[in-house]
Amino acid sequence: MNRIVYADNAATTAVSTQVLEAMLPYYKEVYGNPSSLYAAGQKAKAALDQARADAAACLGADPDEIYFTSCGTESDNWAIKGAAHAMKKKGKTHIVTSAFEHHAVLHTCQALEKEGFTVTYLPVHENGIVRVEELEAALTEDTGLVTIMYANNEIGTLQPIPQIGKLCREKGIWFHTDAVQAVGQVPIDVREQNIDMLSLSGHKLHAPKGVGALYIRRGVRIPNLLDGGAQERGKRGGTENVAQIVGLAAAMKAACATIQERREKLAAMQDKLIDAILQIDRCRLNGDRKERLPGNASFCFQGVEGESLLLMLDLKGISASSGSACTSGSLDPSHVLLSIGLPHEVAHGSLRLSFGDYNTMEDIDYIIETLPPIIERLRAMSPLWDAIQQGKVNYDAYM
Ligand code: PLP
Repeated sequence: MNRIVYADNAATTAVSTQVLEAMLPYYKEVYGNPSSLYAAGQKAKAALDQARADAAACLGADPDEIYFTSCGTESDNWAIKGAAHAMKKKGKTHIVTSAFEHHAVLHTCQALEKEGFTVTYLPVHENGIVRVEELEAALTEDTGLVTIMYANNEIGTLQPIPQIGKLCREKGIWFHTDAVQAVGQVPIDVREQNIDMLSLSGHKLHAPKGVGALYIRRGVRIPNLLDGGAQERGKRGGTENVAQIVGLAAAMKAACATIQERREKLAAMQDKLIDAILQIDRCRLNGDRKERLPGNASFCFQGVEGESLLLMLDLKGISASSGSACTSGSLDPSHVLLSIGLPHEVAHGSLRLSFGDYNTMEDIDYIIETLPPIIERLRAMSPLWDAIQQGKVNYDAYM
């Protein structure tokens, strides 16, 4: 019988029992509005305050620097558009980002370009890492914001965040990082790392979908996201989603308290998987082998089509994702795979396997056993693989 292996934790994670239990009282028992003065409201307010303190502690921030939002995308939009509009008042209109950010950042930057801002998209090279010297060279008198993701969602590579933070602080430029994939996976300290704004999202760390947060360093003043009531210190009006926020904070607290042991477990699983998969003929690991999230491994297989691979894995009980065509509703492979220099033909054969707290070494063994025969079957049906075999085309330089 097929084993069920959920290997798409970079897309979303299951809500943990601990998180769900922390949330439940705030639906039926403590359902008061945190702005109400009577006891039920004040209990909800106390939960909110505690959640803010727990979320802040996980990042090395102060509670009054945490703003709860509805998702990572909202946090990214608020930080980047907010910073852009604030810096414009000081006469600065240049933003620096990287070519392989999540669309929550890229499309936000593109929207700002239409408003007249200029944006530099730094290359991320074959290893999927921004070079600090290239960032430095891109900064001008006009630069007001640098936004570089902490860890890439498709290939898992970690960016040199402390060095970027230091450089930006020295130059007096605000530094935002989309840390949606990184929070709870790698140790983050916003003060030590000189981060001015940081976006995160609950559903990547075993909290529910539809809740996130933005850290804004005290002293960084950006416009309100939602004008309304006094919630989130007046910067994001709207009655707080108390249960979801409690869930987010519980997940962050649990993840941050166990980062080291979970990293070791995930890294051991990842190492075993990568070593085994790289034995497959004409296959590559995407992104740097060392500077990566412990639970994310992305591969490309020559002569294989990503969607077919996903469907065949699904038939075997394995949920994974691919950075190619149809999943994104477009015929082009993902911008991330193209940004690391892969040709379309190679990028089309991509597979991302990402792991979380509920995966085990047995899941890895099952993938290692199941994947190679699937690759073989798909290649047997592939005209591209025939052409590769006959030496008519050659992508070995990318392997
Ligand atoms: N940024 C990154 C790096 C992500 O991986 C994601 C989600 O896939 C987001 C932003 C968006 O987060 P959300 O789904 O909470 O809007």
